[in-house]
Amino acid sequence: MHLGPLFESLLAVPSPSRREGALAAEVKAFCAARDLAVEEDDAARPLEGQVGNLLVRLPATAAGPTLLFCAHLDTVESGEAPVAWRWDEGAGAYAATGETVLGADDKCGVAVLLGLLDRLAAEPGAPRGEVRAVFTVCEEIELLGSDAMPPAWLRGVDAAFALDHSDPAEIVRAAPAKEVLRFTVHGVAGHASAPERRINAAHLLARVAAHLPSGRLDEISTCNLGVLRSGTAVNVIPGTGYAEYEIRSHDEARLRFYADRTEGIIDDTVQNARILPFGQDEVRQALVEIDRERCYGAYRLEDDVAPVVLARRGITAAGLAPRLTEGQGGSDANVLNRRGVPCCVLGCGMHGAHSTRERADLAEMTTALEVLARLVRGAAE
Ligand SMILES: [Zn+2]
Repeated sequence: MHLGPLFESLLAVPSPSRREGALAAEVKAFCAARDLAVEEDDAARPLEGQVGNLLVRLPATAAGPTLLFCAHLDTVESGEAPVAWRWDEGAGAYAATGETVLGADDKCGVAVLLGLLDRLAAEPGAPRGEVRAVFTVCEEIELLGSDAMPPAWLRGVDAAFALDHSDPAEIVRAAPAKEVLRFTVHGVAGHASAPERRINAAHLLARVAAHLPSGRLDEISTCNLGVLRSGTAVNVIPGTGYAEYEIRSHDEARLRFYADRTEGIIDDTVQNARILPFGQDEVRQALVEIDRERCYGAYRLEDDVAPVVLARRGITAAGLAPRLTEGQGGSDANVLNRRGVPCCVLGCGMHGAHSTRERADLAEMTTALEVLARLVRGAAE
């Protein structure tokens, strides 16, 4: 099948996290038209979303490993519907017009996975092991959907593949762990005209920020101060300030080290913000609350594990030269690996994810579908 019209129909349905209902209905209708049963889990209630994760099972027709492919239904927040896009003839790609994100992350993956289901449904006699297609929700909000997936969906899976990357010749065999520190500093508020015995929380927050590293920490670790908020008006000494800081590393021990150090820097800087007024007993001291959240763990697949071996074979069979690479972000693969299912990430034509310069390369999507079809066929041989 031609992926262009299918992809356009998916683009027309906005699906930010927790509001994937309409896109899930598209997937269900697509499968119903091909007599494929769709199971939905109970994730909608705990996640307070419109719909749970979806699973389509294609029973084995021959001996072979059980394969699981997943793509996430949700996109980052894209503003008001409709999503604005245009066809870039020169690039052979769908492009965002600059007003909203395109949602190529991960509608490229959804389109390619539906294309695979279409192809497998059309050749029911072809020899292959069991294939499971999972459409997850809430991937963009710390992988909550795949986290909530029922264990039964993962039982017996030999190799899994998350469709959530750009180049279809690449195999993302590793991704970092991530931790977020959210902290609130409490100073002493007051009027700007009477600064004595006040502690300006905005200034304190700025001092903390100035002490924290920014950007790359080492060859496998990064950090980012993403949110910094304080103050209401220029004539008010702010009493509180709030910030969010993330750290990623491919090495768990380094991540722990950097996160502990960050907490130490915040604590020390705030500790030093105290007022010892001359001739008075009362000491005023700034305070801080730090909330540390571990978002997901790192994974690293060796060359000889099933998803890497099978992906390499599928990419080669599709006429490309496979390349192993490492990702810098989290995906459903982080969760599946943690849950005991070896999973790598494969490319499906998305570029510039999470930006208004997002692009979906139609030729790469078509190639990705070819890779998956060859992968399924090759796994059973
Ligand atoms: Zn994604």
